[in-house]
Amino acid sequence: FHIFSSAYVRAAVNRSQYVNDGKKEIAFIGRSNVGKSSLINSLCGRKKLAFVSREPGKTRTINYYAIQSRRMENEEEVRQDWYLVDLPGYGFAKTSQQNKDSWSAFIADYLEHSPSLQMIGLLIDLRHPGLPIDMKAYEWLRSIAPSLQIIGTKGDKLKRNELVKNKKLLEKYFPGDFPPIAYSALTGEGREELLKVIEGKICD
Ligand code: GDP
Repeated sequence: FHIFSSAYVRAAVNRSQYVNDGKKEIAFIGRSNVGKSSLINSLCGRKKLAFVSREPGKTRTINYYAIQSRRMENEEEVRQDWYLVDLPGYGFAKTSQQNKDSWSAFIADYLEHSPSLQMIGLLIDLRHPGLPIDMKAYEWLRSIAPSLQIIGTKGDKLKRNELVKNKKLLEKYFPGDFPPIAYSALTGEGREELLKVIEGKICD
């Protein structure tokens, strides 16, 4: 399963701008600065598809990327068209209660009106498993997401034994449909594993 094309489509700020053309969607969400843009770029094999480290909290948009992937089925190449959806991050320091409420209302509205959404990847910094803000997001998303995949980010920043330990903690704190994946946008660790999970959702 290989992503061979990716292109920015649009940034939605309200319901009338959701794509909804029947193609499947895979969304990613996480605390601001968790490494979401880097993961999207790494997954698509692009340098600047998603903008890395834009100033947090400035614009709150749902970004759609049109993805084309391919895989072999019975010795034939089969292509898939789908959307990768970059959901706005949560938890930047200056966020007011009002901002928090509008963030969850925005995400809830997207979830409610996106029948083609297959899975949400929830990104957690592997160095900080179990932060209250991530646990809260998890508890909430688990009840409304079609399926949830935990992805530990910045894996290359940990020593091997710490990585193993923290991955276990992710499993404990965030029990999900699939075991957590340890990812590094820098080394590509976890990329094949995540692509396999996405393949399962896109090709079933
Ligand atoms: P976002 O706000 O969630 O989109 O996070 P970004 O992708 O902009 O990443 C935030 C910061 O973490 C940037 O300085 C990235 O270079 C860094 N970063 C993201 N992913 C990784 C990773 O896998 N390894 C390392 N070492 N740094 C990363």
